[in-house]
Formats: sequence, C-alpha cells, structure tokens
Amino acid sequence: MTTPIYLDYNATTPVDSRVLDKMIPYFSEIFGNAASIDHMHGYEAKKAVDNARNTISKILGCKSSREIIFTSGATEANNLAIKGIFRRYKQKGNHIITSKIEHPSVLDTLKYLKNEGAIVTYLDVDKYGLINPEDVKKAITDKTILVSIMYANNEIGTIEPISEIGKITKEADVFFHTDAVQIACYYPIHVYDLNVDLLTISGHKIFGPKGIGALFVRSQNPYVQLEPIIHGGGHERGMRSGTLNVPLIVGLAEALRICKNERYKEVDNLSKVRDEFLGKLKEIYPDLKLNGHPSKRLPNNLNITIPGVESKVLINSLKDKISISTGSACSTTKAESSHVLKAIELCEDNIFNTFRVSTNFQSEFESNQILRILNNI
Ligand SMILES: *Cc1c(COP(=O)(O)O)cnc(C)c1O
Repeated sequence: MTTPIYLDYNATTPVDSRVLDKMIPYFSEIFGNAASIDHMHGYEAKKAVDNARNTISKILGCKSSREIIFTSGATEANNLAIKGIFRRYKQKGNHIITSKIEHPSVLDTLKYLKNEGAIVTYLDVDKYGLINPEDVKKAITDKTILVSIMYANNEIGTIEPISEIGKITKEADVFFHTDAVQIACYYPIHVYDLNVDLLTISGHKIFGPKGIGALFVRSQNPYVQLEPIIHGGGHERGMRSGTLNVPLIVGLAEALRICKNERYKEVDNLSKVRDEFLGKLKEIYPDLKLNGHPSKRLPNNLNITIPGVESKVLINSLKDKISISTGSACSTTKAESSHVLKAIELCEDNIFNTFRVSTNFQSEFESNQILRILNNI
C-alpha cells in the first residue's frame, strides 16, 4: 500500500530535513544543561539557546531576545499568557474579551478561569469568520484586562484584523494576546507594529518539531509580567521553570528562519494553486461551498462544505489514498460539532458535510493526483 497523500497541514507539518539536521547534534554530542554554565558542556547548550532566542526575537520584531519565553507548545503558551495575565493583574479587573472561534487551548483556559472569578465576553464573527474591531472596542469596560484573539483560524483559515484590534487595545490600555500559530509559517509578524503584548507560536505548525512553542512577552510600554503556571528553578525569567529542551528550541528557530527566507515568498503561489484546485473541485462538486474568507485566508487552507456528502463517510472511504480531516478535533462525534462552524452559522446539517483540506500545495502534480482520486469515487 502506498502512503496516502497528506492533506492536513493545519493539524501538523513534517519536520523540514534542514531543521532535523540542525537539531540532531543537540540530542547527543551537545547535550549540556543550558542552565549549568560553569563548564563548556553547559555553555555550548546555552549558546545554542541564546542563538535560537535571538533568531526568533529578530524575526518577530521584538525589542529584546528576553521577550521570548520557550514553552512545551502553543497550548502551554496560550495557558501561560491568559492565566499569567489574569492572576498577575486581576486586582485591576477581571474581564477578558475573546472570540467564539478561538482554539480550545484558549477557550478551555478561559472557561477554567471563570472558577477564579474571570468574566469572559465571547465576540461573534461574521459569516466569513471575521471579527469586527469595532466590536472589540464596544466590549471593553473599565474592568477589562485582556483581549485574546487569534491571528488566523485553524479550521476555516480566516485571517483576523490583528493590527486594527491592536490599535484599539493600546488606546484602551488593555493587554492584547494573539495566537499566531497558524500564520507564523507564511506571513511576517512584527509584534510591536501589531501592538500585541503577547503572541504565541508553535514548532510543529511551521515544519518544526512537536512539543516546543514560544510566547512573546512585551518588555517595553508596558513591561508585561506574568504569574507563572509552572514553578521551579526560575528558568525563562521565572515565567517558565524547567530545563530547556535545547534540540527542540534549536529546531523551532531554524523552522522559523526557513519560513522567513522561503515560505513567506511562497504565499502567492500557494494561494494560486489552492484556488485553482478549488475551481476544479467545484467542477466535481457543483454545490460545493467554501467556508471562511475568500481572500483573507491562510494560503494552505481550504474548508469546504459539500451538501449531501457526509464528511465522516467520505474521509473514511478515502483514507487509504488521502489524509483529510473535518478540521476540528472537537468534531469527532456528532454530539460535539465544531464551535467554529457554528459561529459562522453554518446550518447544522452542513456542519457534518464539511472538510478541511490543508496542504502545502507545492505542486500542481499533487493537486491533479488528488483530483483524480476524487473524480474516481
Ligand atoms: C495547533 C494549534 C494550537 C496548539 O498548538 P500545540 O503546540 O500543539 O500545543 C494552538 N492554536 C492554534 C491556532 C493551533 O492551530
């Protein structure tokens, strides 16, 4: 049996071979503890971490490499950003604003914080999944301490107006966190231009390793402090204790460096191949409907509804040939349908006729192969 074609790049990506090559020595030869720098072994590890931190901070437009805090992934970074702000600043106010289409690592964290007294406003999105910055403005009260809105949605690919929202939060003197996990692979991010205070990235969504992420924590205007969620040796300026995972940190930086040097430049071509693919798909399924914004969307994402075709059935029947998903780990059963698709008011039936196809759309050859498979079912 040949390996199916992988079409789930919004769920995870393979490690780029150059990233892997860069990481390998740090598993064995250069194994020191980056916090034990009394000797050469620790020093070499620390040097690698410093370099990685520098690379990442420069690419993201940070003022200092100290603004990058390494975590075990985006789930932890989102938890740290939200719990860290709330617990540190809750005497200033207990109100947090988010959207209905955030990743579960944001929504579940906020739900949990209600136990600690948080009041949460969940903003609606329009039919494309877009948040209206004016709605953010209107929702801010004198009790608001944090706005958390994702940069690009992992299910429907919609890219949110983060810099517009940043202007509003800055003016209102409210902390602003964005989950930039999905966008980091394809678009330049400049944290200070965006006026964000906290920003999350993840290794395995940008052709880097799993189990590593980073949180940008602003250090100027204002100097943001976070209450840690993991206590211990005081690593990462006390915000995230635990021995640093040197190979994964090296891999995260290399993956982001490759995005900047290569993947940012592929966006137009990826979008073009994707749109052509969509056009041909429409020839096979004339009723097909695209979910998410037609142009303000990730270049590697399609989210489509095919009326009358149940997604679970089609995905299962194709699984020897292509790996596609419904796009939401939360929609594995009928009882729990996607909160994102509900938020864009897709009707209940259509939610179960919906697929996410995410590829690197590198080659037309690949998309033609996929079309052939779909044509033959
Ligand atoms: C995958 C994903 C996460 C979680 O990232 P992990 O590093 O796997 O914890 C968070 N937010 C978004 C938007 C994602 O797509």
